[in-house]
Amino acid sequence: MFAKRMESLKVSAIREILKITVNPEIISFAGGLPAPELFPIEEMKRVAMAVLNDSGSEALQYSMTEGFLPLRKQIADRMKDKLNIDLTYENIQIISGSQQGLDLSGKLFIDEGDVILCESPTYLAAISAFKAYGPKFIEVPTDDDGMIISELEKIITKTSKVKLIYVIPDFQNPTGRTWSLKRRQQFMELINRYEIPVIEDNPYGELRFEGERLPALKSLDSKGLVIFFSTFSKIFCPGLRVGWIAADKKFLEKYTLIKQGTDLHTSSISQQEISKFIELYDLDANIEKIKSVYKQRRDIMIETMKKEFPPEVNYTYPQGGLFLWVELPSHIKAEALLLTCLEHKVAFVPGDSFFPNGGVENTLRLNYSNMPEERIVEGIKRLAKVIKEYNRIKA
Ligand code: PMP
Repeated sequence: MFAKRMESLKVSAIREILKITVNPEIISFAGGLPAPELFPIEEMKRVAMAVLNDSGSEALQYSMTEGFLPLRKQIADRMKDKLNIDLTYENIQIISGSQQGLDLSGKLFIDEGDVILCESPTYLAAISAFKAYGPKFIEVPTDDDGMIISELEKIITKTSKVKLIYVIPDFQNPTGRTWSLKRRQQFMELINRYEIPVIEDNPYGELRFEGERLPALKSLDSKGLVIFFSTFSKIFCPGLRVGWIAADKKFLEKYTLIKQGTDLHTSSISQQEISKFIELYDLDANIEKIKSVYKQRRDIMIETMKKEFPPEVNYTYPQGGLFLWVELPSHIKAEALLLTCLEHKVAFVPGDSFFPNGGVENTLRLNYSNMPEERIVEGIKRLAKVIKEYNRIKA
């Protein structure tokens, strides 16, 4: 009955298990949800009223596929200001969350059997979005400085049909790592040499708590090969489902064409509300608030991990974003650990699903944006207790 592509899309057992984390008794580090108490609800009530008063009939009407023009201009201005990326609104396509951009990219670039290169590990839902188009994933090894460029070059030179490279250089999901400046420069040198399109997925770049801001790959892109994705989900509100693609026109025109057949356009009213919020309020002040809360939550999580985790456990120290990554002693299987943790009412995502080709069982991802500080402390204590039990069994 179903298309062949559905054979590769399996319901994930872990995802099913994690559904129980909606139970408020469970301290969940599993999702990637922003802190809901930071949503500007009162302001958005006024914004919604203003949009309906000022332009209600357009906000409730069909609109153009490229997106709401004032919002495209606001995004282009912000990108210039924040990221030193000099583009105009004509290089911006609004999408229904950057997740839609991933699906559109699969549709646009991938024939069955084509190769996508990505970081190992990489964003779980990018894997699912691309998988529907039947690619072969080749995972490029990474370390604390990002993708290892010598490994990337080896892979490129011995692989035919590399169609696309997908990367998250800033506060990566799932590891929280950020690529160093040197890696960014080396990466772009290589890309320019081999001329392979790159998706730079950047939902977290503006959520830097400390350290120096590093240039986006797009800002180093002299040949127009980088297709930059970002979103209002993590710097504002994910429920509005508004993100954007910033790219050279040769790519953007194709994205527009393909989006037209997918959903005609992103919600007119959501786009207008975001645009109005930026006009009436201070989006940067909102981002500052988010950063200060997440920084405190990261600090308390790491502080508790330092005290409670056995020394054999390693973890990343993200300078921004929502996640950190834990590497357990190799004999501990994160999926088994999760089942025991759920009995103790604490949850995380086992790392295996972030590797498109699987096979890494002793890692896990923790989210620190969504739980208040006292629950982070309690949750990490519970997790540490279970890790210690598992560690003792081996000893
Ligand atoms: N890319 C990455 C790396 C993400 O972490 C997420 C959200 N978790 C997305 C894309 C999708 O974001 P949205 O569709 O809400 O813009």
